[in-house]
Amino acid sequence: MSKITWQLATVTSIRPETPRVKSFTLSLPGFTPHLAGQHYDLRLTAEGGYQAERSYSVASPPEQTGEIELTVELVAEGEVSGYLFEGVAVGDPLEVRGPIGGYFVWRGEPAAPPLLLVGGGSGVVPLMAMLRHRQHLGLRTPAVLLFSIRTPEEVIYQAELEALTKEDPTFTLLLDYTRQAPTGWAGYQRRIDAALLAEVVARFATPPQCFVCGPTGLVESVANGLQAVGVATESILTERFGPTGG
Ligand SMILES: Cc1cc2nc3c(=O)[nH]c(=O)nc-3n(C[C@H](O)[C@H](O)[C@H](O)COP(=O)(O)OP(=O)(O)OC[C@H]3O[C@@H](n4cnc5c(N)ncnc54)[C@H](O)[C@@H]3O)c2cc1C
Repeated sequence: MSKITWQLATVTSIRPETPRVKSFTLSLPGFTPHLAGQHYDLRLTAEGGYQAERSYSVASPPEQTGEIELTVELVAEGEVSGYLFEGVAVGDPLEVRGPIGGYFVWRGEPAAPPLLLVGGGSGVVPLMAMLRHRQHLGLRTPAVLLFSIRTPEEVIYQAELEALTKEDPTFTLLLDYTRQAPTGWAGYQRRIDAALLAEVVARFATPPQCFVCGPTGLVESVANGLQAVGVATESILTERFGPTGG
């Protein structure tokens, strides 16, 4: 067991995902392979010694060694996300420790049940690590990603998710626009409720393993909704990102 200690990573690339979301690739001197779904802690230290620490899920799959990708959404008046979003450039050092968390993880075992991934906003990040891991393993475990966003410009990893939809018939992307949908949109455009979840769960031939991640309000209502439509409690794993309902 390696001890999880702070290390100084270097930012090697920054990619805008949406107007309010960026992905950061960090090269790690002490890379430890993570499990899809785990996170890192990131610590900022001001000149006077004041420190702020936050958690960020790993977006990259375990197969991407030597570095991790973190995807950060700019939170209004957010101390750490604001600094990462506006104050960090390629070549900068960042202090991180991880990987952390052994509960909200998907190991990609070939006999694993099908996957129902439900994400709200940046809650899609650890779910993306699971999908990327699944791709690397060449698994065709049926997987549905139900992704709740407010508007079309908020779809993180859009191009990659659309490409995956095209190339893998066992993957289904269900976008749910809660505030404004694209013109002519025929898919979901309301908050996720039990009736919507019943439709999604009915797509599976065998009971799915559910991973739910995002703002606290969304996670709680989805977890309750899944139970209401008959999904076993032990098949619902949740990760709460923050206090607001987004
Ligand atoms: C296990 C774990 C993994 C996480 N992974 C990610 C990730 O991959 N990507 C990501 O962008 N974030 C992730 N988060 C959230 C992240 O840790 C921070 O909470 C977030 O970046 C806000 O921090 P901040 O310092 O910018 O805001 P703060 O200065 O802490 O807060 C500013 C304001 O925003 C509100 N707020 C705080 N957090 C959130 C939030 N998450 N959503 C909405 N409002 C919030 C606060 O109540 C406050 O009003 C994760 C959280 C956890 C616990």
